[in-house]
Parts: sequence; structure tokens; C-alpha cells
Amino acid sequence: MDNSTQKMESIVSLAKRRGFIYQGSDIYGGLSGTWDYGPLGVTLKRNIIQLWWRIFVEERDDMYGVDAAILMNQKVWQASGHVDTFTDPLVECSHCHARLRADKLDDPNKCPVCGKEGTFGEARQFNMMFKTNVGPVDDESSISYLRPETAQGIFTNYKNILDSFYPDLPFGLAQQGKAFRNEISPRDFIFRSREFEQMEIEYFVDPEKWEESFEHWRQQVWRWTQALGLPDDHVHELEVSESDRAHYSKRTIDFEFDFPIGREELLGLAYRTDFDLQNIQRVAGKNMDYTIKGTNRKFVPHVIEPSFGVERALMAVLSSAYTEDEINGEKRVYLKLPEHLAPVRYAVSPLVRNKPELVEKARTVYEALKKKYGAVMWDDNGNIGKRYRRQDEIGTPYCVVVDFQTLEDDTVTIRHRDTTEQTRTPVSEV
Ligand code: ATP
Repeated sequence: MDNSTQKMESIVSLAKRRGFIYQGSDIYGGLSGTWDYGPLGVTLKRNIIQLWWRIFVEERDDMYGVDAAILMNQKVWQASGHVDTFTDPLVECSHCHARLRADKLDDPNKCPVCGKEGTFGEARQFNMMFKTNVGPVDDESSISYLRPETAQGIFTNYKNILDSFYPDLPFGLAQQGKAFRNEISPRDFIFRSREFEQMEIEYFVDPEKWEESFEHWRQQVWRWTQALGLPDDHVHELEVSESDRAHYSKRTIDFEFDFPIGREELLGLAYRTDFDLQNIQRVAGKNMDYTIKGTNRKFVPHVIEPSFGVERALMAVLSSAYTEDEINGEKRVYLKLPEHLAPVRYAVSPLVRNKPELVEKARTVYEALKKKYGAVMWDDNGNIGKRYRRQDEIGTPYCVVVDFQTLEDDTVTIRHRDTTEQTRTPVSEV
């Protein structure tokens, strides 16, 4: 097993063992491409989403948040082109009947499952949308889809936002939520899932000024990867060639990350032109014009779309945080998570459990910290060394230990995750 594969396996196993991420429906043998988040995973994921919302919505005055329904009128997906073209090429092995994504095969002539050669026929286009019916009647008119991207829930609200808020151009709509794709081969832990979350922005611009806004968002993407604590030299821009771009895009940059599984797409930045608003105008018959204030100049705005995946951000954060080192000759595993993302910021414990006065004092410190930070854990299991190791594994930056000296001078030991250094600090300054 090479180092990267080993690292990936260690991360997956730590994520399960420590309550970050479990296989979906595990108890029934699992459901491929689905993942459940445990207490630490859900907090880490929320911290990522909240960071995104703060940077891109709350800190700006040109952004509007929305939260559209996941189920949408089927016309949305007809107009957007998803019903006809949201497909991946599928091949089936005539020997073992494995179904695989044709454009992801290492060798297009050899089945990676059974090893036979020349068993694939022609690739056929497989639509990745999950289809369902809305209401009690199961016919063509009741068809709906679980949304394969959050973007369309934004475009369909563009007019509502214009009417309610009368924003100046350029302005953006932001949404975070679930998306579903019936991926042919979900793989690589949460990297390619069938149910995942996106954080998307549709930024509406004057068509004559799209390049300026594209450049702005390109810089903002870097701001985001830095806020996640990802090293710059692990993030790469890939200018997508015309033949590889989605049909609606006039320019796309894929931001790739050096995951343990290799260099893969972390997020995308696309210039979607007026493709979506024109489709809505055509199919819904509603005018999508924006009139520049104080003038008669009107046009359908063009769109710059940064599209972020939550799971891929989380996987990038986990893989850059995962660290192995040696302390006093003993192997140690820890997550070097940025403090603002760590699911637990402080773990508080009494040095020993059988001294009531220590426990009581530690409880007071715990409650005060919990009130202030929320992300604080009480941990009095096992001896102190074991506690440190456990907290290291979940990425807790600080362990606060209440000991006998605390009872005398109201100072505690703070043990630092990255250096394992211990310092004494007055309780009031923690
Ligand atoms: P890929 O080429 O890897 O399938 P894509 O180009 O189809 O990705 P987009 O349609 O651009 O992806 O979606 C935007 C973002 O949503 C991606 O950059 C990624 O972060 C996330 N994403 C897309 N598909 C998945 C998936 N199956 N599982 C997890 N995240 C995904």
C-alpha cells in the first residue's frame, strides 16, 4: 500500500472511530455513496458552512442569502438542460456486468473489476438525476427530481430578489444545501457521494464587465481556501478547455486540491453567461431584464458562479490536518485543525476523578468556558495521557486541566495540541 492510500485509510478509520463520519445505513450493510455525520463531523461541517456564510454573505453588502426547496417544478430541469444533458457516459462489462463511468477508466479496454479485456460495448449516456413523483398520482405530470445542484434554486429566485430588494448591480445570491447525483461510481470516501452539500453563489453582472467580476471571485476563492487553512501550494487552478467546459460556460477554472487520492477538483468557478436567465425567460415567459438605475439601459444580467462542495472542503481540511509525529519515542496521530474549525476547542478535565474538590472546580471552569465558546468538552475518561491522545485525534487545540495547584492559586494547566507544551494560566484568562 503506498503512503497516500495508507493516509486515506487512516483518515477514514479515524473519522469512523472518533465519531466524525460513518457509512450511511451501515447497520443494514450500507448504502453506497451516502454518509452519516456523527457529533464531531456535524460540528466540523457546520463550522465550514458557517465560515462560508460569514465570509461570502454576512461580511458583504452585495449578497442575498436564499434557501430554496429541494423539490422543484420539473420545468426547471427541462429549461436548464439537465433532463437532456446532465449525463455521464456509462459502460457495462459483458463478463461481470459491472457498470462503470467510461471517462474515469484507467484503461478503456480493460474491466477494473474482473480484469477481462474487450468486454465493454458502446458507452451510453446515463442521466444522474434522481427521479421521483410528487403527490399521489404517478404519471408524467407529477415527475420531479432531487436537485442535482443548488444553482437552479437561486436562478428561480432572481426575480423575487429584484422585486423585494431592488439591488444594485453587481449583486449575488448565495445558497447552501443538499444536492443529489446518482453517480455511477461513488468513491473515495465523501469525495464523490450521491448525496452531498453545495455552497453556491450566482453573481449577477453587467455583461460588459464579466471579466472584472470573474477576477474578483477568483481572488475570493483563494481567500476561502486560506480561511480553511489549506496550504496554497496544495491548491491549483486548472483553466478548463472549451471542449471540457459545460455547455453553458464561456470560461471555467477548476480549483484542484492535492488530496491523498491525488489532485482532484475541490470547487469550480464558471462564467455562465445569461444561459440560465434566458432559459427561464423562454420557458416561464417572464421578463428577466435588469434596468440600470436612473437609465433606460436594460439587459439580462450575466452570471459568475463560484460553486463550492462542502464534503470536498471537509475532506481537504481533514487531509491537510491529519498529522503523525513522535513524542518521546511514541507515535502520535493528531488533527492539526485550524482553531476556528475544530469541533472541540477546549477539553476540560480534573487531573484525577476521585477528588471531589478537583471535580467540582473543574466543573465550574467547564461551565464558564462552555457558556463562552460552546465547543467545549468534558473529558475525565482514563488517565491524563490517554485523554490528551484522544483529544489530539479529534483536533482539540487546548486541554485545560484542573489540578491541586488550581485549588491554591486559581491557575490551570493548558496543554497545547501541536507542541504538546504545557503552560500555567490563571482561570480568568483562559
Ligand atoms: P466532478 O467532475 O468531480 O464530477 P463536477 O464538475 O461535476 O465534479 P460541479 O457540477 O461543478 O462538479 O459541482 C460543483 C461542486 O460540487 C464540485 O466542485 C464539488 O465540490 C461538488 N460536487 C459535485 N459532485 C459531487 C459529488 N458527487 N460528491 C461530492 N461533491 C460533489
